[in-house]
Amino acid sequence: MSRELPVSSNPDSFGWCFENTYTQLPSEFFAVAEPVKVADAKLVVANHRLALELGLRLNDQPAGHLAALFAGQQIPVGAKPIAQAYAGHQFGGFTILGDGRAILLGEHRTPLGERIDIQLKGSGQTPYSRRGDGRAALGPMLREYIISEAMHGLKIPTTQSLAVVTTGETVYRETPLRGAILTRVAASHIRVGTFQFAASRQDESSLRALADYTIHRHYPEISNSDCTDAERCLQFLRAVADRQAALIAQWQMAGFIHGVMNTDNMAISGETIDYGPCAFMDHYDPATVFSSIDHRGRYAYGNQPAIGQWNLARFAETLLPLLDADEAISVEKATAALDEYAERFDSYWLQGMRRKLGLQAELDEDRELVNQLLEWMKSVKADLTNTFDDLSTGRASESFGGLYAEATFVNWCARWNDRLKVDGNTRESVRQGMLAVNPARIARNHRVEEALTAATERDDLSTMHRLLDALASPFDRDPQFDVYRDPSPPGTCYRTFCGT
Ligand code: AMP
Ligand code: MG
Repeated sequence: MSRELPVSSNPDSFGWCFENTYTQLPSEFFAVAEPVKVADAKLVVANHRLALELGLRLNDQPAGHLAALFAGQQIPVGAKPIAQAYAGHQFGGFTILGDGRAILLGEHRTPLGERIDIQLKGSGQTPYSRRGDGRAALGPMLREYIISEAMHGLKIPTTQSLAVVTTGETVYRETPLRGAILTRVAASHIRVGTFQFAASRQDESSLRALADYTIHRHYPEISNSDCTDAERCLQFLRAVADRQAALIAQWQMAGFIHGVMNTDNMAISGETIDYGPCAFMDHYDPATVFSSIDHRGRYAYGNQPAIGQWNLARFAETLLPLLDADEAISVEKATAALDEYAERFDSYWLQGMRRKLGLQAELDEDRELVNQLLEWMKSVKADLTNTFDDLSTGRASESFGGLYAEATFVNWCARWNDRLKVDGNTRESVRQGMLAVNPARIARNHRVEEALTAATERDDLSTMHRLLDALASPFDRDPQFDVYRDPSPPGTCYRTFCGT
């Protein structure tokens, strides 16, 4: 199944250390699949920072070798490429899916001993492609690269992007586009949809095998706990819900809108996955939707926490047979875990907002203070990122220029200052704390588009690299990156597409 490397290249020269534990699951969970041959693989971007963390040696490699590697033309020694089976609720409707345009090369062991998935996205058809061509276009793959780097910079759990290559082939969407492949790195690609797939087979032993595997891989502390299988499974459900609560709270704080929170796009590891029509919000408005296909706003910014719970309810349903022999008791346990998600989300959110405002003690009145600020931001269309940045640096609350001259804001600031006095911290320590959690920069939509246009239409990668530099350390206040603070020009109505 795995191809031989040409004699000219040393199989170990990249530093791969592949294992394929996923293929020990029952065979219905995957299909053997190989990346297709492509016409002319060319490296567009490689993530040297990530490569270093993974223990890979990309420097000093001939560009041709990197292109062949990241186009799936040379399968690393030890990798056993597969496509993974899964199902999912897409905009609420259930479908059997699977990797239709992605191939998992295997699991690389990092120098720290972590097991991470290495997946090629856009590498041709698989047994799960249905009517799709299995391909991806350059623009959307670079978009995933940029946004996942932005999320990493913001310290939000995310899959990462190791490289993008072009294939030298054309993919046909509304227009002919340049074909490309993204190398995605993830804690794993096990999704809520993977469990839905298992449950749809109505084979409890397969479901249990998947649960055991996933617990062992992502929640080892539960795996090792001394309890019954049913208790372990409930702990698993609660732990997955907890990670999602923490993750989605972080999205809300950064103004990140995933755009397509289908259950197949919710990773059990708690990483953000599948950067399709996602985007960051400029001015604060809970109704914000960017995706061109999300007509009813199912995945609007303000709905994300509730959709998280909806998805977790679908996850909990798959686990019912493992929670208790008596279904009524299973349902009771699952319902309690879902209620707990709502409480956890709320608590992560409130804790996070306190940090964003430099508040230390946990006072009941804090929630109202936060909500008053958000209401004001909504009413005047204040930019989410810049408002918190301006509060951190003092630009907002000391000079009261522009929007900040509004009486509502000035009054709010007085209440905020009174509240800060309760903690008794110096202004400087409050300021340092706020600067550390409020980013100066996010991936602004017009900046992302500018970088993609330059790269895809003019082969100019410099705009993208400058943007990536600005997004790598969004908490520093380096003035050279100040232009990246500007929100999208007024009147622009940003739309995103699924990019399949
Ligand atoms: P996504 O919207 O990227 O989460 O994809 C949803 C489903 O559609 C997944 O099963 C994908 O593998 C599949 N899919 C998306 N694009 C393609 C394509 N071009 N060819 C085959 N399958 C695809
Ligand atoms: Mg997906």
